[in-house]
Amino acid sequence: MQRSQGQSIGFVPTMGALHAGHLSLINRAKTENALVICSIFVNPTQFNDAADLAAYPRTLAEDIALLESVGCEYLYVPAVDDIYPAGETVKSYDFGRLETLFEGEFRPGHFKGVGQVVGKLLQTVAPNLLYLGQKDYQQCMVITDLIRQMGWQDKTEVVVCPTDREANGLARSSRNQRLSPEGLVAATALYRVLQKCREIYTDFTPAELENWAKAELAKDPLIRPEYFQFVHPQTLAPITDWNKQPTVWVLIAAWVADIRLIDNDYLFT
Ligand code: AMP
Repeated sequence: MQRSQGQSIGFVPTMGALHAGHLSLINRAKTENALVICSIFVNPTQFNDAADLAAYPRTLAEDIALLESVGCEYLYVPAVDDIYPAGETVKSYDFGRLETLFEGEFRPGHFKGVGQVVGKLLQTVAPNLLYLGQKDYQQCMVITDLIRQMGWQDKTEVVVCPTDREANGLARSSRNQRLSPEGLVAATALYRVLQKCREIYTDFTPAELENWAKAELAKDPLIRPEYFQFVHPQTLAPITDWNKQPTVWVLIAAWVADIRLIDNDYLFT
């Protein structure tokens, strides 16, 4: 679909339980498009854990009020049957290594589900610009690859927006509202340890620093780290030697009590 710049459509897909992080994407999209569409759909096919899907917060009335407060006039809230009509085979994509590493390893099938739903939403909305949060770093790569596989590179451009954080560094997430007050404090360790790594990394090998970081997180009995890995920012290949890299990224996943959180950022650039 060709549109002039004045008719440009920006699209912000979400699963709802909106917070300031989502609104930062809407606000950015509003400055760059004539029309901004947000979608809210808690996609069942990207949850490998039924309990996690059931517990995912659903706050549509509050979400609508927040979208109105930032002047987002178009909201698409499909039902499960709209996205996955009975009898229709939903198109699946193969993201190769990208879908088996990190989030793909710990949440099997997650990125297949993301590819299915975003593929469907893109067909419906056909945006010029697609706004995604760096918060879900691997997802940004998967969706960029999805657009390539769909042959939509000239139709839809991905805009990766910075992770919006609380003043204490905690990355905003819909899951944070399920944390206890103690969990909310404990969760700040993820970004704090990442920042500490920036200060001290030259004294360690990547493997040593990963072990230190995981041990540091696990000192809090509420935290159970899943991965804390230094990677190449594009291929996500693990880093074995700082000196061979101009830029190194950190990917983190950890359970805080019974809530699984992820974060990421650069170690050095
Ligand atoms: P979700 O509703 O969690 O699927 O998120 C919808 C979009 O908002 C995704 O592109 C996320 O990466 C993005 N997002 C979620 N949290 C943040 C945040 N703290 N800062 C920036 N973007 C975010």
